[in-house]
Amino acid sequence: MVFADYHTHTLYSHGTGTPEENVQAALQRGLSAIAISEHGPGHRFYGVRGKKLLALRREVDRLAEKYAGQIQVLMGIECNLTAYGRCDLPTGPDAPPFDVTILAYHKGVWPEDGFLWGRTLEALAGGKPDPIRTANALLAAAERYHIRIFSHPGLYVQADIPTLARGARELGVLLELNAARTTMSKAEIQAAKAAGAAFIIGSDAHTPERVGDFQLGIQAAREAGVLSQVINWREGEA
Ligand SMILES: [Zn+2]
Ligand SMILES: [Zn+2]
Repeated sequence: MVFADYHTHTLYSHGTGTPEENVQAALQRGLSAIAISEHGPGHRFYGVRGKKLLALRREVDRLAEKYAGQIQVLMGIECNLTAYGRCDLPTGPDAPPFDVTILAYHKGVWPEDGFLWGRTLEALAGGKPDPIRTANALLAAAERYHIRIFSHPGLYVQADIPTLARGARELGVLLELNAARTTMSKAEIQAAKAAGAAFIIGSDAHTPERVGDFQLGIQAAREAGVLSQVINWREGEA
């Protein structure tokens, strides 16, 4: 079974449930850990920032205490690539600490350099892909901001998976097998495994009902033969 869900959203961004509803859903699914990993502040529509982000940290801390002994409750953040090698991870004295750092390219972010403008054109208008450079841009940001997970690799813009996987192995970043949608082909997942990458399955739930729904990710891992490289998988029921 997959025993932890580190990628869930709530009504703090554009999800529908409260953090506590996500925690209760995770408990019902028998998970031993859950993270509330909201969209980073750079997202113009869904980004959580400022006082709201601090309030979410306090709420996660309250839940961690309330459910201690039943489930581990963590504060994550799903950062947005904002430029080559840059992302919107909140830092500085007014930023809360994060237990889980996730990074991906998302649409809806104002590009801070020509590289990201190119990716935005690629995502929105079918502009020219640049997969190796996109992989390297993500890796450079992961190194600079100590990112631990690349969510949905290849979604919206093409990323060269072998390049991403080699770098991810070196940096200790996990590649997510997203359970809300398929973003890597079986061949890409196998190439990532061959490059030495490790994987994590995330629900990317935007409703409490989908918290701990890992089916699509488990199926992808099984088909590609990488289940034993999935760090939140253990043999057993469900
Ligand atoms: Zn979202
Ligand atoms: Zn995402």
